[in-house]
Amino acid sequence: AKTEGRATYRFFEAEMGEAVRDRRMLEHDLRHAIAGNQMKLAYQPQEDIQNGTVIGFEALLRWAHPVRGNVPPDIFIPVAEETGAILDIGEWVLRTACQEAASWKQPLTIAVNVSAVQIYHDNFVAIVHEILLETGLPAHRLELEITETALIRDFDRALSTLRRIKALGVHIAMDDFGTGYSSLSNLRAFPFDKIKIDGSFIKSVNTNSQAAAIVRAVLGLGRGLGLPVLAEGVETEAELQFLRDESCDEVQGYLLGRPAHIEHFLDITQGKTTT
Ligand code: C2E
Ligand code: CA
Ligand code: CA
Ligand code: CA
Repeated sequence: AKTEGRATYRFFEAEMGEAVRDRRMLEHDLRHAIAGNQMKLAYQPQEDIQNGTVIGFEALLRWAHPVRGNVPPDIFIPVAEETGAILDIGEWVLRTACQEAASWKQPLTIAVNVSAVQIYHDNFVAIVHEILLETGLPAHRLELEITETALIRDFDRALSTLRRIKALGVHIAMDDFGTGYSSLSNLRAFPFDKIKIDGSFIKSVNTNSQAAAIVRAVLGLGRGLGLPVLAEGVETEAELQFLRDESCDEVQGYLLGRPAHIEHFLDITQGKTTT
């Protein structure tokens, strides 16, 4: 058992060394990903549930690593946040998404995910302002998606930043509502324009009465506060029907459209807004 333990330890040590090396490599590669033209944005439609009209798109970051292939954002975003690389990457995402949206013939909204690291950075509001001026995108067509978790580090500071963002005319959506440190007082204290219910609740809405109850409660909350609610991760007709019956305002998910290259949606961005 003694030798076995030592062997396990050696194995563990080797694994650890590899994990650390792997991580360092990822950190290094991330710093060059923008300049190396490896980052792209995928766009996913967001629809009005009543008439099925596309009202906007969410920009989702994609990284084509030259050796590893596609690295999912759930893997590289946390690394980019820890190293601070998210500041440059996030600015690139904002500029690219706003440029893209400004070129559309239809006045659709563009939703952009924003990390806590960006929100607490001194220049954030100035960067958003500069990008709006530079791209000519009207402020009300930009919506920043922010999770509740991003607010808890320093409520006062986050509140002051979000208020200045709002003063520009930019909209703010609370992302992943229902996960993490959900607090109803956040909805009241912060100047949100929209609630996005996390896809994990939508997934079990037809099979799990608790998930259904939570979704109903969030929809009631939205109505009470006068905030539109968007359901994420809608994959089936049954889920869509449930959300329609419960008067959800907007939907997004594989059923309506997978995140894809914007060329895929030319008929929507350049032509008629109905699909
Ligand atoms: P999120 O903001 O909650 O984005 C929704 C995620 O759900 C996306 O994953 C999207 O592709 C996926 N999704 C959409 N419809 C469906 C569906 O019907 N079923 C399922 N199972 N999934 C669906 P993705 O693109 O892998 O992004 C994961 C997360 O990475 C995002 O979650 C967001 O937190 C983060 N992220 C992505 N792009 C950016 C970015 O530009 N900046 C920052 N800070 N974070 C980003
Ligand atoms: Ca989002
Ligand atoms: Ca989300
Ligand atoms: Ca999420």
